[in-house]
Amino acid sequence: MKIDFSKTNGLVPVIIQDERTLQVLMLGYMNEEAFSKTKEEGIVTFFSRSKNRLWTKGEESGNFLSVKNIEVDCDQDTILIKVIPTNTVCHTGSFSCFGEKDSKGFLYELEEKISQRIDDKIQDSYTYSLYQKGINKVAQKVGEEAVELVIEAKDDNENLFKNEAADLLYHFLILLKAKNIHLADIEEILLDRNK
Ligand code: AMP
Ligand code: ZN
Ligand code: ZN
Ligand code: ZN
Repeated sequence: MKIDFSKTNGLVPVIIQDERTLQVLMLGYMNEEAFSKTKEEGIVTFFSRSKNRLWTKGEESGNFLSVKNIEVDCDQDTILIKVIPTNTVCHTGSFSCFGEKDSKGFLYELEEKISQRIDDKIQDSYTYSLYQKGINKVAQKVGEEAVELVIEAKDDNENLFKNEAADLLYHFLILLKAKNIHLADIEEILLDRNK
């Protein structure tokens, strides 16, 4: 892997991305030495411009970045590293330097919202009122939405089909919650099958 360290005083910007979610976690710089060390050890070492020395991310906090993949951009002057972070990445305690939370995408946010509605027993929430009717009712509702989707699949109204698909996903998430199972558990099975 060839990297052009000649442009900015021997420093190259390095984008750190979460391997699983592709969330951007932070940006740092590497000189040639930091890059070699990172490749050798499999954990990220930057060159810190403020400390003016090699800086292994996590050296004080223990929040290391474990290297999963290294790529270089089109003209070899920027590095992209996919990592699995240990704990939070930003020194402020945020998960990422560009956002507070571990962002896995909208479906996971929706899962969280559904979970909150139910745990907080929000009385005028449809989610909570369905949940309260019990697991059989929730499962039945998933079945109904699936049938509605099947019916729309035979038709050619794309908009209705999409809306039924959305209904199904939403009720599916409520059913997971009712079973105390997380979307990530399902994702894990699919990821395993994909190997
Ligand atoms: P750490 O490398 O996590 O042990 O943190 C050591 C020091 O590096 C902290 O006290 C901060 O000054 C700095 N630091 C840690 N993480 C970041 C970050 N994501 N971005 C910028 N500076 C950081
Ligand atoms: Zn470039
Ligand atoms: Zn930060
Ligand atoms: Zn429906």
